[in-house]
Amino acid sequence: MFLRSIESENFRNLKNGFTCHDDLNIIYGKNGQGKTNWLEAIYFLATTKSFRTVNLKELVTFGESRMTVLGDVYLSKQIHHRICITFENNRKTFLVNEKKTKIQDYVENLSAVIFNADQLEIVRGSPEARRKFLDFGITCIYPAFIQTLSDYQHCLKQKNALLETAQRKEFSLEKVLQMIEPWNEQIISLSTRIHKARVRYVEKLNAVLQQGLFNDEKIQVQYLSSLDNSDDSSNYAERMREKLAARLSAELSVGHSLVGVHRDDLEIKLNEQDLRKFGSSGQQRSALLNMLLATLEIYHIQNGEYPIFLIDDIDSELDYERIRQLLVFLNGKIQTFVTTSKESFLERFGNIGEIIHVEDGKPMIYQL
Ligand code: ATP
Ligand code: MG
Repeated sequence: MFLRSIESENFRNLKNGFTCHDDLNIIYGKNGQGKTNWLEAIYFLATTKSFRTVNLKELVTFGESRMTVLGDVYLSKQIHHRICITFENNRKTFLVNEKKTKIQDYVENLSAVIFNADQLEIVRGSPEARRKFLDFGITCIYPAFIQTLSDYQHCLKQKNALLETAQRKEFSLEKVLQMIEPWNEQIISLSTRIHKARVRYVEKLNAVLQQGLFNDEKIQVQYLSSLDNSDDSSNYAERMREKLAARLSAELSVGHSLVGVHRDDLEIKLNEQDLRKFGSSGQQRSALLNMLLATLEIYHIQNGEYPIFLIDDIDSELDYERIRQLLVFLNGKIQTFVTTSKESFLERFGNIGEIIHVEDGKPMIYQL
């Protein structure tokens, strides 16, 4: 899939739009001009989300109430769609070829993966970032998984509310246990599904990662279930039921849920060593890059096409040699948008793609 052009109205400080190159788009400009905002607008057009905030009101130009992003998307040479997303009064609406569309149908038109400094949380930060990485990859290929995840969150919320009630002793212990039971059953059933989907996705990741995508560094990942720190799927539901029974008194005393896939983790290894503990900063960056490229590759295996790839501040995340290897890997395959504020980047790589110069939110095609 390719984004042929993008336009925005009242998206942060952005104005007008630009035509995109099929391979490499270099968004260039001084600090604070709107380069990241353009990547964010593209990501929002594709995923209906921002990679910077969950509060979408921040995306609307100061003093305005309605924001729109429009794009021309080519799914193949023959199939071309005009997609449009509007945010107003805290609601998003979607158009495909001028027709109002449901979000599930809208998001199939364009997929995007982002690489930026925040994504380093995946290799350096808490387990939550790694669970999100897995869940994002799974929802890219099975959009219905979004519902499973949101059902799980709903059950956890309900159970946590009950555990809090128990702490305030509003009901008898017996009554609380009776009320928790059906939520536990749902948590077991949803955890089993989520665990299975994540373990399968990890298998797909390993299959792709062992090829050493854009360099020779071989990353290996392993799913770590909080049940027993393994990726063992046998008798998962029964084992979880036992663990829930064993941890019940602990859950009652802390007042929140301690058992389930919201406690799981993903181990990332480089040359058999835990990357988070022993990897250098550069190794962590290229491992992350390999993992994001694996997400693109798995999507491609499933759908026969690649999502678009966005890289913010490319030259502060990677050195020029890694950038060169990466651009060779992406060229002719994956449409890419990168941002840079450095002229030396243009001198080095500017002849490969299109340069879009951003000044005060306005994009202009720039000739070297
Ligand atoms: P850097 O090189 O420092 O990363 P950048 O070109 O990526 O800079 P952006 O983060 O894209 O810069 O844009 C920042 C600009 O966007 C700021 O000047 C900020 O005031 C403006 N901005 C952010 N949100 C809004 C908004 N809701 N309405 C209007 N302007 C906004
Ligand atoms: Mg920026």
